[in-house]
Amino acid sequence: MEAHPAAGDWEQFRQTLRGRVTPVTWRAWLESLVLEHSEGSSLRIVAPSEFHLRWVNDKYRLLIEEVARLAFGSEVTVELAAADAQAFEGPIVDDEPEPEPAPAAAVATHPEPGRLVPKYSFENFVVGQGNRFAHAAAMAIAEQPGGNYNPLFVFGGAGLGKTHLLQAIAQHAHDLHPRLEIIYLSSEAFFNHFIEGIRKKRMDEFKARYRGVDLLLLDDVQFLEGKEQILEEFFHTFNSLYEAGKQLVFSADRPPKSLSSLEDRIRSRFEWGLTTDIQPPDVETRLAILRKNAAFAPQVVPQPVLEFIATRVVDNIRELEGALTRVTAYAALTHQPIDLEMAEDVLQDLGPAHMTAPISPGRILAATAESFGVSIVELEGPSRRQPLARARQVSMYLCRELTDLSLPKIGGLFGGRDHTTVLHGVNTVGRLMKTDPTLFDRVTALLQSLRRTT
Ligand code: ADP
Ligand code: MG
Repeated sequence: MEAHPAAGDWEQFRQTLRGRVTPVTWRAWLESLVLEHSEGSSLRIVAPSEFHLRWVNDKYRLLIEEVARLAFGSEVTVELAAADAQAFEGPIVDDEPEPEPAPAAAVATHPEPGRLVPKYSFENFVVGQGNRFAHAAAMAIAEQPGGNYNPLFVFGGAGLGKTHLLQAIAQHAHDLHPRLEIIYLSSEAFFNHFIEGIRKKRMDEFKARYRGVDLLLLDDVQFLEGKEQILEEFFHTFNSLYEAGKQLVFSADRPPKSLSSLEDRIRSRFEWGLTTDIQPPDVETRLAILRKNAAFAPQVVPQPVLEFIATRVVDNIRELEGALTRVTAYAALTHQPIDLEMAEDVLQDLGPAHMTAPISPGRILAATAESFGVSIVELEGPSRRQPLARARQVSMYLCRELTDLSLPKIGGLFGGRDHTTVLHGVNTVGRLMKTDPTLFDRVTALLQSLRRTT
């Protein structure tokens, strides 16, 4: 192979990366990565095996992207691949991926694990009192789809791990039974796909697609309430899969009997198998989740700080993680070790009796627009120029932090953007907050003012 033009930057990339991780991590996971080629602003980095790749993608992708930007410039995009397989594209690939053509974007066939969030695995799922039963049922289904628990219906409040659990089933089932056809998707994506089928007169494709799966996981079915057109089709899909012994898994924010606008025949089918709830985590579980997350932080997070966070955020795991991220981001920015005083300072907006009052997306857009000096119409619009694009990503981040909206829903607020675009925006802001003090201050100020005025 001829000498690579980017060879010098690659060495710099490796040295920087090496300085950012422990020697063990370096030797175990990162040293063996190879630059296969770089073209324009895109890098293709290859790991020795599929397994190796998954691990790297899961644990070090953000770090790799960050260091790549330092070494190769801020425009760089990273593709991770395995030497023994096809490219594995994580959810964060390029800047604003164009919305994908049909089928709807959240669909995973033969699940392409890249479409699922790698973090949402059983390994990363902390089991506690509130979710023990749901977890056990989910495991059993991944091991033996179409077995004893069919359908599985998981319900619980926002941020308690329903999506995590459903995606963990999809990923684990795929690992154990690679030949199974598995589809995970939000009810919203399912609905959009259905509408598209009608519009393009391709209902046969729609039917064939969903009736041909072995394991169908439909997230947030409360979304289907009141959508009469699709419920009829859903009913037939359900029957045909169920009768063929295929596994069905549903989640919702309430139990089937409270999905009051659904017809009885559909509601009762949800209850044919196993219905289980997820309860808010007890303090032990909250601590365990924080500890698990803190293990990935570049700094040590002392136990009293974890306890402080665990007592402040009690009923939403997404917020729990968000609070920890803000503290570690602040410490990274200011190059200070994390201590209790700092945590209290950074998390002022989480008062002692922190209640999660709903905050409307409209207010989030208005506040972000004002802070960045752009208009709400521009935030919703197509332009990708800066600082507008960044402002849009910040509003996506705030919507994720402050509301219960799903990724597709958030995308809908911004002119129907794809859920992967939203995820990318949210992750980008989370990452940049660690290196950009201005952005950190701005996001913190927005969070605090939005929370204060509820
Ligand atoms: P829901 O779909 O119920 O709103 P999510 O599945 O999106 O909730 O979970 C919110 C966040 O909390 C995710 O980042 C998820 O990884 C995390 N989370 C939820 N439950 C657990 C758990 N038991 N262990 C570790 N992380 C969890
Ligand atoms: Mg969810």
